[in-house]
Order: sequence, then C-alpha cells, then structure tokens
Amino acid sequence: MSKEIPKTQSAVYINELGEYDKIKFDNSIPTPKIESSNEIIVKNYYAGINFIEAYFRKGIYPVGKFPYVFGREASGEVVAVGDDVKNLKVGDKIAYLSPGTFAQYTKITTNDHKYIKLPANSTDEDLKIFGSLLLQGLTALTFINEAYKVQKGDNILVWAAAGGVGKILTQLITNLGANVIAIASTDEKLKLAKENGAKYLINSSTDDIEGKVKEFTNGKGVDASFDSVGKDTFKTSLNSLKRKGTFISYGNSSGPVENFGLGILTPKNIKLARPTLNSYIVTQEEWDHYSQELLKLYKEGKFKFDIYKTYDLKDYKQATQDLEGRKTHGKLTLKIPQ
Ligand code: NDP
Repeated sequence: MSKEIPKTQSAVYINELGEYDKIKFDNSIPTPKIESSNEIIVKNYYAGINFIEAYFRKGIYPVGKFPYVFGREASGEVVAVGDDVKNLKVGDKIAYLSPGTFAQYTKITTNDHKYIKLPANSTDEDLKIFGSLLLQGLTALTFINEAYKVQKGDNILVWAAAGGVGKILTQLITNLGANVIAIASTDEKLKLAKENGAKYLINSSTDDIEGKVKEFTNGKGVDASFDSVGKDTFKTSLNSLKRKGTFISYGNSSGPVENFGLGILTPKNIKLARPTLNSYIVTQEEWDHYSQELLKLYKEGKFKFDIYKTYDLKDYKQATQDLEGRKTHGKLTLKIPQ
C-alpha cells in the first residue's frame, strides 16, 4: 500500500568529493521504490544536520557510490510499506536514523530497527525536535554509559561543549553528579555551557588548557576527556588526563588524529576508545534501551534540546559553512519541502 510518490525529488547531494562548491541541490534524484518486503518509504519533514556530513564530502569517511545524498536522521510520515512490514502502516509518523535523509523521500528497511514511532497528533515542533535529536542524543547517552561509564564526582573534560553533541553531553554528565570542565572557543559558547551545568570553563582561544585543567583538578588531571575535535587537540587531551584516565576520541572536527605509537599511552596507563554510535545500537535490545531512555530523559526535562537554526533544505551549503566555520552552537536542522 502506498501514497502517490513523484518520480524525482529535491535532495542535497554530491557527485564528487571536495569542498562546499561540490554540494548540489536540485530536483533530479530518483525517488526510492519498495524493492523488498521489509522496506518502507518515508516522506521527510525535518532532517537533523550533523558534522559527519563534512567527513563524507571530503572523503574522510567513504561515501560508497555517487550521487551521495547527505543526511543521517529525519522525521517523516510513512508513505509506502512492503508486504511483510508489521509494525508500521502508511500515515504513521516516525523519527529515524538512516543515510540519505537530506531528501524528500528516504527508503529504510524495518529489519534495521533504528526508528521510533511518533504520536499521530505530533506538532510541527515535535517533528522538528525528534527529527533532530536522535543522533546527537544517542551519541551522548551511549558514550557516557559505554565508552566511559561516568561516575559521580568525576572530573570530565568536554570539548566543543556548546556544540550539538557537547551541549547534551554537558547536561547528562552534570546530571550524574560529575564535574564538567567545558572547553569552547568563545565566551558566548562558554556561557551556554555554564547554563547547561558545566562547573569549570576553558576558553580554547585564550586560555592555557592544560594549566587550567591542573588548576581545576588539584594537579591530578581529568578522569576522562570526551574529545570530538581530533587532530588539533589529541596531545592536549592526553596531557590533561589523570593517571589511569580514559581518552574518548570520537570526532575529527579539526581533522583525523594522526598515527601514533601505542607507547604514548603507557606512562599514565591511559585507556583509549575511538567509539561510533552505530556500534552501540546494533541489536533491537540496544536500540530500544537507549532510544527509550533518551526520550524519557528528554520528556522528563532532564536535559534541554534546542534548535540553533532551521534552514531550508536548499540552504544546506550555508548551514554546513556555518557549522564547519564554528559559528553555531547546539543543533542545526533542515526543513524539507513538502
Ligand atoms: P558541533 O556542533 O560540535 O560542531 C563542531 C564544533 O567543534 C565547533 O562548533 C567548534 O566548537 C569545534 N571545533 C574545534 N575545532 C574545530 C575546527 N578546526 N573546525 C570546526 N570545528 C571545530 O558538531 P556535532 O555536534 O555535529 O558533532 C561534534 C563532533 O562529534 C564531530 O566531530 C562529530 O563528527 C562527532 N560525532 C561523532 C559521533 C560518533 O559516533 N563517533 C556521533 C556524532 C558526532 P568551538 O568553536 O567551541 O571549538
């Protein structure tokens, strides 16, 4: 069963790797068709923007084949279902994780469980929030449970603390009774980190980061560093850790970490993890556990999630220039034309 779907659709994509000028937006991308009985097609409403798109565009992560349609998450309405789909029907509203969401239509397979059903009476604001929350929210939630199990009283360094993931990390870590040492590049961003519960603030543009960490931790260093910046901050993170501390290196905002010998971990017995969200939500049980926990925390007001700016789909290039240019804080999202 399906609603009428046009042959081509508006989408944001690339046909070759490169800088911003390679980003295309037009109405030429074929709309997906149901090809196997577990698939559904979603008509998208909002699609959250994530830094990872820059890595695909630049070739830091492999794109597979071209045209490569950007996007990793969205909210939308189910407009077609395969014969064996049991849990969803045409007209249902969902929020989900999948490649290819910067487009009017996306095909997902329900064998991949990474969706949540939204109430039929969801408002436009609900659709915006839930089309933008899952990726960064689940990253923060899984990482503080599995990459490093944050404990009450810990001192935790959070890089890009006013960024999309950083804002949620700061709040969830603070909720656990740990002390967030927030790092950001401007005082305006640090003010937001403080509002989100950060105990100590470091301005990466003006402060001596390692000196400040020593000052805030009585010379010991932090229990863990959640470092999304990558290349530029690797040594500073390492030097800021306490003996037996944990280094969570989870992003490449400044470029991928360069090769290093394992021996640099030895003097302080450092544990190092380079996690990805996707490998924490592989099974249905893992997905259910973390997605339900995230929604519960959000609905109970345990963390705030606000959208920095909503861009039209056609303006993705401007949005990612703002994001990669460090001009933004919190979440950016795209409104998909209907
Ligand atoms: P952010 O909103 O955090 O934006 C990036 C921020 O990084 C900037 O605002 C900036 O903050 C900081 N930054 C520091 N150095 C640079 C630089 N050279 N260029 C650009 N930005 C820089 O983005 P997201 O929340 O979308 O993602 C945060 C990071 O987390 C990304 O690296 C992303 O890839 C990673 N991530 C990893 C996941 C995983 O599974 N491993 C999942 C989700 C996200 P400031 O100006 O304050 O320094």
